[in-house]
Amino acid sequence: MSTTQRTSAVPNVTLNDGHSIPQLGFGVFQIDPAETAEAVSTALEVGYRHIDTAEMYRNERGVGQAVRASGVDRAEVFITSKLNNGHHRPDDARRAFETTLSELGFDYVDLFLIHWPLPTLYGGDFVSTWKTLEEFRADGRARSIGVSNFQVEHLQRLASSSDHQPAVNQIELHPYLLNEQVRAYGEARDIATEAWSPIAQGAVLGEPVITAIAERLEKSPAQVVLRWHIQRGNIVFPKSTTPARIKENIELFDFQLDADDVTRITALDKGEVGRTGPHPDKFAHIPA
Ligand code: NDP
Repeated sequence: MSTTQRTSAVPNVTLNDGHSIPQLGFGVFQIDPAETAEAVSTALEVGYRHIDTAEMYRNERGVGQAVRASGVDRAEVFITSKLNNGHHRPDDARRAFETTLSELGFDYVDLFLIHWPLPTLYGGDFVSTWKTLEEFRADGRARSIGVSNFQVEHLQRLASSSDHQPAVNQIELHPYLLNEQVRAYGEARDIATEAWSPIAQGAVLGEPVITAIAERLEKSPAQVVLRWHIQRGNIVFPKSTTPARIKENIELFDFQLDADDVTRITALDKGEVGRTGPHPDKFAHIPA
């Protein structure tokens, strides 16, 4: 497509398995399946080359459709999906992964994650689920594998029971919830941190510290927060169905926050009070 424009300004992060992931992508949680292809098409047109979906979002099909319609090579787009909570047993995980590939319409994903550790379900056994994802990596249908919402103790259990560490851990992380223990554990062990709900679904955007920096830099509050993530090394994929915001959220590479800005945004952390989603130790929801 002629309007397709590559935004080479998005840096790549090298994962512990040698693969590269664009540090900024596009998230599709809570995008209606019927509207997903359109939103992803807009994202691809303005330069995104990394899409974050999940079986749970029921919109993998729209992601695949948009990529095929875009004229962008499949190899140029980094696609992540995630195993749904009802499919942790190895045979279920194998079937679910095949469904993911067929919904996307591709023969591989770039990254496949265990969506939630669910330590109170399946007898607390996420290790055999992890070993099943290792099969997908070994046969090439998942280029990289990782986890989401894993706490330090969950990562430690994987470290003691498997030769392969997750390439990423995707966790809730934004200025109101730094999730620092989990992030620091990942940093120390070369597990890349992906920050979900990077702008806390909009909740941080009216924060005076952030709006003041935005005014000074003539950027939007969302751009300031996303830039803060980028400078801290997090991988992010903001969600929007608003074309102007989709474009705005990738325009992060022509300005910088100074050290004081970064420190002041980092100081907004509220700890557990800042968490917007469920706590991973307790979350046990299996979607219908
Ligand atoms: P985000 O923090 O990305 O916020 C999305 C919300 O912010 C939407 O309401 C959107 O509105 C609004 N918004 C987006 N851009 C702007 C902007 N520039 N200015 C003002 N408002 C804006 O929340 P998500 O929860 O969607 O997180 C992002 C991604 O993280 C998800 O899509 C998903 O891929 C992943 N995720 C993973 C989870 C996990 O358990 N692994 C859990 C949650 C998310 P609008 O669309 O109307 O423009």
